[in-house]
Amino acid sequence: MSMRFEIVTIFPGFFSSIFEHGIMRRALAEERVTVGVHDLRTFTHDRHRTVDDRPFGGGEGMVLKPEPLAEALASLGIEPKAARQPAEDDPPRTRVILLSAQGRPFTQAVARELAALDRLVLLCGRYEGVDERINQLYCDQELSIGDYVLSGGELAAAVAVDAVMRLVPGVLGNEASGEFESFGVADAEITTDSDGVPRSQHGSGGLLDYPHYTRPAEFAGLRAPDVLLNGDHQQIRRWRREQQLRKTLANRPDLLENAALSKEDRKVLEFLRQETGSPSLRSDAISTDND
Ligand code: SAM
Repeated sequence: MSMRFEIVTIFPGFFSSIFEHGIMRRALAEERVTVGVHDLRTFTHDRHRTVDDRPFGGGEGMVLKPEPLAEALASLGIEPKAARQPAEDDPPRTRVILLSAQGRPFTQAVARELAALDRLVLLCGRYEGVDERINQLYCDQELSIGDYVLSGGELAAAVAVDAVMRLVPGVLGNEASGEFESFGVADAEITTDSDGVPRSQHGSGGLLDYPHYTRPAEFAGLRAPDVLLNGDHQQIRRWRREQQLRKTLANRPDLLENAALSKEDRKVLEFLRQETGSPSLRSDAISTDND
């Protein structure tokens, strides 16, 4: 069973090479995922193939008109939400998403949720955005890829497709590796490889990934950490976990509030906080799944 992405855009050419590399290319070649790119202008009926119009109430810029978008969605078999009747025990397998700076943050957790669906329909805005009635009538979710404003939804759609598709079962060579990266699953679910080394990422439990090194052991006067070269898997695990905590504390201390932290983690964090002079965590905000 493969997952289908439908992208509605006024710039279909934007996607002509974007999926031709690496994991995405392989996933498409193996038909684990498929992508349809739909030119919004196909759904216009005037000589100029007009997709936008001036905003009611005045103001800057143009707005994507609702009719072509509604037609594009109809061509994909998407009805207005009011006409969809999902059975209670059978939640919808398709989701219609509007890429928007006003949307909920797109996170790894959202990517995981979306990867469990059969089909994602991604509407790319342009100009000042999309007529709000399209959002109201058709969209299940508005997603933002970050607190900044892009010129169009195409880059955001590409980001979403990339992050979701690599979580579709079978897409990553190593079935579990998506769980062992930054923002991955809890430590309790960590497995090891055939040599007993915790996989590329020990369960990051909402933490950032640890730093990675490869050959040569010495580069530009810097040696890869000895602990990674000595073959002691317990020590490697401990070092990697400490590095995760260190990096998360330095770059994304907010993640520590919801991370699954063991007693050992908290001891390490306390040490790191003293070392770096970072403020203490709220102890009641720390979950202790691994205690
Ligand atoms: N007037 C809009 C606002 O202030 O929120 C910005 C419109 S933006 C120039 C044009 C389109 O880019 C949006 O309709 C949306 O599809 C896309 N876009 C911009 N920033 C985005 C973000 N952070 N995440 C997802 N899509 C974004």
